[in-house]
Amino acid sequence: MRLNRFVSGLFGLLLPVLPVLRLAAQVPLLSPEAFLGYPLGSRFTPYAQVVAYVEYVARTSPRVQLLRYGESYEGRPLLLAILSSPENLARLETLRTDNLRRAGRLPGTPHPEGPVFIWLSYNVHGNEAASTEAALQTLYALAHPDSQRTGSWLQQAVVFLDPCLNPDGRERYVQWYHQTQGVRPDPNPLAREHHEPWPGGRTNHYYFDLNRDWAWATQQETQARLALYLQWMPQVHVDFHEQGIEEPYYFAPAARPIHALIADWQRALQDSIGRNHARYFDASAQLYFTREVFDLFYPGYGDTWPSFNGAIGMTYEQGGGARAGLAVRLPEGDTLTLAARIRNHYMTALSTIEAAVRLRNVLLTQFIHYFAQAQTQPRGPYQAFLLRHTSSSDRLEALTALLDRQGIRYGTLSRPRRVEGINYATGLRQQLEAQPGDLVVSVYQPAGVLAQVLFDPEPSLPDSLTYDITSWALPFAFGMEAYALTTRLDPDQPWISRPIPSNAHSQPYAYLVRWSGLNTARFLSALLTAGVNVRVATIPLRLGGQRFEAGTLILTRAGNAHLGSHFDQMVQETAAHYRVPTYAIASGLAEDGPDLGSTQIRLIKRPQVYILAGPPAKATAVGEVWHFFEQVLHYPATLLTADQLGGLVLEDGDVLILPDGSYSSRAVAIEPLLEGVRRGARLIALEGALELLVGQKGIALKRRNEPEERDLKQPSLYRERERTVLSRQVLGAIYPTQLDTTHPLAFGLDRYFTLKQRAQSYELLEEGWNVAWLEAGRPRSGFAGYRTSAQLTQTLVAGTQPWGKGSIVYFVDNPLFRGFWYAGQLLFTNAVFFRE
Ligand SMILES: [Zn+2]
Repeated sequence: MRLNRFVSGLFGLLLPVLPVLRLAAQVPLLSPEAFLGYPLGSRFTPYAQVVAYVEYVARTSPRVQLLRYGESYEGRPLLLAILSSPENLARLETLRTDNLRRAGRLPGTPHPEGPVFIWLSYNVHGNEAASTEAALQTLYALAHPDSQRTGSWLQQAVVFLDPCLNPDGRERYVQWYHQTQGVRPDPNPLAREHHEPWPGGRTNHYYFDLNRDWAWATQQETQARLALYLQWMPQVHVDFHEQGIEEPYYFAPAARPIHALIADWQRALQDSIGRNHARYFDASAQLYFTREVFDLFYPGYGDTWPSFNGAIGMTYEQGGGARAGLAVRLPEGDTLTLAARIRNHYMTALSTIEAAVRLRNVLLTQFIHYFAQAQTQPRGPYQAFLLRHTSSSDRLEALTALLDRQGIRYGTLSRPRRVEGINYATGLRQQLEAQPGDLVVSVYQPAGVLAQVLFDPEPSLPDSLTYDITSWALPFAFGMEAYALTTRLDPDQPWISRPIPSNAHSQPYAYLVRWSGLNTARFLSALLTAGVNVRVATIPLRLGGQRFEAGTLILTRAGNAHLGSHFDQMVQETAAHYRVPTYAIASGLAEDGPDLGSTQIRLIKRPQVYILAGPPAKATAVGEVWHFFEQVLHYPATLLTADQLGGLVLEDGDVLILPDGSYSSRAVAIEPLLEGVRRGARLIALEGALELLVGQKGIALKRRNEPEERDLKQPSLYRERERTVLSRQVLGAIYPTQLDTTHPLAFGLDRYFTLKQRAQSYELLEEGWNVAWLEAGRPRSGFAGYRTSAQLTQTLVAGTQPWGKGSIVYFVDNPLFRGFWYAGQLLFTNAVFFRE
C-alpha cells in the first residue's frame, strides 16, 4: 500500500546483509530473493518452491529444525519450522516436556523459566496468499545466523512457523493467478485477475473453511496440525489472514463478543501485543484498526481455539486476498501491491515475537496458572458432562474420537452416583443417577476450558453481533441423551469401547444389523458397493428374543445366491472392519412384526448418486456433500456442473443432490429433472436449492411469509440499524424438532436438533411427509432475534414429497454443517438409501 521507509527497527536488521547475499559463494544463508530468483512480492511463489526454500533454510541454518507433520488431501507436505537458538534446539525435547508440564499434560512440577513458545500460522485461507510469502521473509529474518536481533529473541523464544496451513487452496489460487496474469499486473479492479472463479482458493480440497474447523477437526490438515499443536502447546498463536482490499490492517485486541471463558489476562496481553504493533504502524503513518469485526466467540477459529488452550490467540488481517492479485488500484488512487501486503504481515510477525519475548515472564506465569486453575478450580457454569451409555456404541465412538483429537480426557464410573444437571433434551435442571458405562467428561482437567466450551448447552453471548454460529454443543450435534452437570463428577474408570457382539454361526438364515450410526452406514455402503443385496425393515420386529427397530438392515442368504459361500465372509469381515454388531438368526419367522419374507422388508436399491458441484451451488456446501460421500460414507458419487445437469437423464434409483446455493430458475432447468424423479429417481434439495422448487406446479413446499410488523411502536434509531436487522435473524441457533420416527428419513434417530442459520422458513407440507419440524419458534440454545419466533413456529425442517415413482426430499437446514453435525449426517444418509 504505502512504502514503509521507517521501520528501521524491524527491517534495518536485514539491510546490511542483503547486498552480500547476492554473492552466493560467501553467504551463509540465501534470502528468498536469492534462492527463488525474484524479489518476494513480484510474483506468487508456487508451493513446491515454498517447500524447497523452507527445506533449504532448515538444512543451512543452525537455528531451524523442520518437521513434516502430515500432508494435505492432494498430497502436499505440511511443514513446521521450529526456530530457536542452537542451544535451545539442542535441548528441544526437554523444553517440550517442560512446557507440557506447564500445560498439565505431563506429571511433575512446572518450570517457571524457559523460552516462550510462539506459533505463527500462515495462509489457512488459500487465496489470502500474501501470508505464505510473508512467512518466507519471516523465516529468513529469524534463521539468518548473522542477525543479532532475532538471535537474541531466539534465546528466549521458540518460534513455530507453519508457512502454509492450506497448501491445496493456496495452490489453486496461485496457479489460477499465474494462468490469468499478463506480462504486467493489471491494477484495474475490473480485470479478470481480480475475480477468482468458483470454487476459489480460500478453502481446502473439499472446500472446507479450515478456519472454522479447529474445534471439530473433520479435515485431514486440521487433524495433523492439532496432533502436533497438542505436543507443544504454545503461549502465543497468530493466524495470518487477509480481508477486503480497502480495509486497513487489523490486529488484536479482538472485537466483542468475547467468549466468557477467555480470561482477563488473555485480553490484557492481546492488548499489550497490539500496542507494540501500533507503534510500528504509527511510525509508518499507516491506518489500522482493533476491537472491531473479528470477535472471539465461535471455537473453530485459529484465534479462539488456541485461546481455549491457554494461549494468546490472535488474528491479523491485511487488506488484500484474491481481489488484490499482484497489484490493485484502491478507490483513493493508491495501488495496493503484494510487496506491501507482505511487508505488513512481516512487520507484525516480528513485532509479535519482540513483544512476546518482552512479556515472557508474565506469559509463562499466567500459562502455568491457567492450567493449574483448570484442574483445580475450573471456571464456567458446569462441572462435568455426562453422555448416557444407552446411546449407540457407534455414536459414542465417534464422539470419543473427536475428544481424542481435541486432547480432552474422558472416562466412566465404577458405581452409580446421584448428580444434578441440565438435560440437553428439555433444557431443564433435574436430578439423575449417573451409571457405570456412561461417558463422563469432567472439566477438572488440563483441557477443561475447551471441554466447557464445546459442551456448554447455552454459551453466554455478551453481544449478539457476531458473524458466526452462536451455539454448537456436541450433545446436540450428536443427538445424544446428555446432561451438563452442576455436580462435580470425575470418572474413575478408563473408557473402553464396548466389545462388538457377534453370534455368528457358520451358515445362518440371515444377519440383522441395527441402524445405529455412521459405522453402520459405512457398513451398508461397503456392502452395496460390493454387490451384496441388503434389505431394510420398515417397521419394528422381534426375532430371536430381541426387538429390532425400523431401519434394521437384513442380510438374507436368499437373494444373495450369486455370492455363494462368500456371502458370510463378506458380511462378517465388513462388520468387523466397521465395528458393527451383527445378529445371526436361524429362522425368518418373526415372533412379532413382519417375517423376513414380508413386503415390509424392502430391498435397498443401490443408488447412483449425482451431486451438483459448481455454480449456482455454494462451494462450501458442495464440499460438505462431496466430503461426506468420499471421506465419511465411503460411497461413490458423481459430480456434475449445472451445464452437465442439463443433459442428465435421471433414471429409477438415481439420487440427485442439489447443495445450498443461490438458485435462479435459469441456472438449473428443473422440469427435466422432475421428469426423471417421476420415473423413480430421488431429488434431495438442501437449503437454498429449495427455492428452485417453490412455486413449481405440483410442488407442495411453500414459503412462510414474514408476519406483518404491527407491533413496531417506535421508529428505530440509525445507530441501532445492525441490531434492527438482527431482530429478524437466526445466528446459528439450535432448535429441538418434532420427529416422525416411523418415517424412513428418521431411521436410527430418536431425537433431532437442527442448527438453523437463517429465518427463511417453509410451511408444513400438506402433501407428503413432514419428518422433522419445529413445534415452537424459540431456540433451545443460541441467538435468534425476537421477531423470528412467529416466523419459525410450526415450520418444516425436513420432509419428503412423493413424485410419480420417485420422491423429493426437502432439507430446510443444513444436515451436513461443517462435517460435524453427526445426527444430521445420519438423517442425510437415510435420504440417500431409504425410500418410503
Ligand atoms: Zn482469512
